[in-house]
Amino acid sequence: MRGKLTLEELAEAVAAGTIDTVLVALIDMQGRLMGKRFQAEFFLESGWRETHGCNYLLATDFEMETVPGYAATSWQAGYGDYTMRPDLSTLRVVPWLPGTALVLCDVEDHRTHAEVPHSPRTLLKGQIARLEAMGLRAMMASELEFFLFEQSYAELQAAGYRGLTTLGAYNEDYHIFQTSKEEDVMRAIRTGLNAAGIPVENSKGEASAGQEEINVRYAAALEAADGHVIVKNGCKEIAFAKGRALTFLAKWNDRAAGSSAHVHQSLWTLAGEPAFLDADSGGMSPLMRGFLAGQLAHAEAITYFLAPNINSYKRFAAGTFAPTKAVWSDDNRTAGWRVVGEGSKAIRVECRVGGSDLNPHLTYAALLAAGIDGIERGLELEPEFRGDAYVADAREIPKTLRAALEALDGGAMLRGAFGDAVVEHYLHAGRWEQAEYDRRVTDWEIARGFERA
Ligand code: ADP
Repeated sequence: MRGKLTLEELAEAVAAGTIDTVLVALIDMQGRLMGKRFQAEFFLESGWRETHGCNYLLATDFEMETVPGYAATSWQAGYGDYTMRPDLSTLRVVPWLPGTALVLCDVEDHRTHAEVPHSPRTLLKGQIARLEAMGLRAMMASELEFFLFEQSYAELQAAGYRGLTTLGAYNEDYHIFQTSKEEDVMRAIRTGLNAAGIPVENSKGEASAGQEEINVRYAAALEAADGHVIVKNGCKEIAFAKGRALTFLAKWNDRAAGSSAHVHQSLWTLAGEPAFLDADSGGMSPLMRGFLAGQLAHAEAITYFLAPNINSYKRFAAGTFAPTKAVWSDDNRTAGWRVVGEGSKAIRVECRVGGSDLNPHLTYAALLAAGIDGIERGLELEPEFRGDAYVADAREIPKTLRAALEALDGGAMLRGAFGDAVVEHYLHAGRWEQAEYDRRVTDWEIARGFERA
């Protein structure tokens, strides 16, 4: 059995004994799967309609802290339940876990059954609906990078994350021999995801030791974002099963490249015509120019959603292929935005700003909201940037979480697109992340100053 399943196909598989477990999961603020493992018979009996989860799941941090100060939920409000509503169009087998299927959920208010406005999936669906009202559909893809390690998660955790040894010892960009040594994990990832209905295009070595990239065929925005979350979870589960660890941290080591999640975007008419292609010139249509202009105009305000963690900002280093400037260029990898595929139906915008730790639903929602604003206001696209953007005097991408939060706070566009309460919710998440970091003493400070201060 492969790929997506209907409820009837699931019932048949359960009757045949090939599936016994259904993972029922929402997508949290960090872009992770959170939910329950259903006995398949019970899922078929009632779980497919709805289940429940504590509402702190959309108000917590990486470490599942009950973060104080959220308007949406708190100890004061009793940390009640959300309704988790399975979206049966996402039901699929998980080939790398024995006898298992997975379904993703929308998140609803327990009483009113309105979708929770700060749920990442809801936010993306909101921007997709805006585009649909304009007669447009967004097709998206994330190019996900990560680092593979010799050790297992348990070994690394026990060692306090010291002595991390990458699988491979040298820059493996496009390297076939080195990536052959990683095939035990990577082949299982490619074939596993493909059999889960996530059409993998390829994997390749990247510009640091142990660094890999996985590319999935572009799809409608929600399908692509859901796929991105499943890819990340699947990569970790498959590495775990092989006794290896891998990380989607944006920067795990200051001597290695960072890991990106470049986002490819194109708009199409509802009839399937490429709305980004100017049929006469083969270049960018006016609609595409407005879309790209919108993303550049709001580059600072949307950065939080491309780089949501303290660690995300360690990746923005010159000369590492990670962009530092919010400029656009045709096929120039030093620019934050790249136009790819000119002269063909595949003409698209690649946003290179985001790191591999981003939440795809939030990122896609913020990018689409900025692009829609550019189209609606008919923004003029600035001239293409040429040369080395690292050294250019050009619009900077915020270099710290603090600066990105200030830009998010001060921007009106996302407040209009997402609603004030949602922006405040994510500002709170970002400020908590900043505060958690600020109160920690790092290894670097001790090594640098212990004796010499
Ligand atoms: P690169 O030049 O960055 O290596 P690739 O050819 O590897 O580009 O494609 C990167 C990603 O772009 C893939 O996931 C691919 O499916 C996606 N892609 C291709 N065409 C489009 C499109 N029209 N819209 C959005 N994504 C697309």
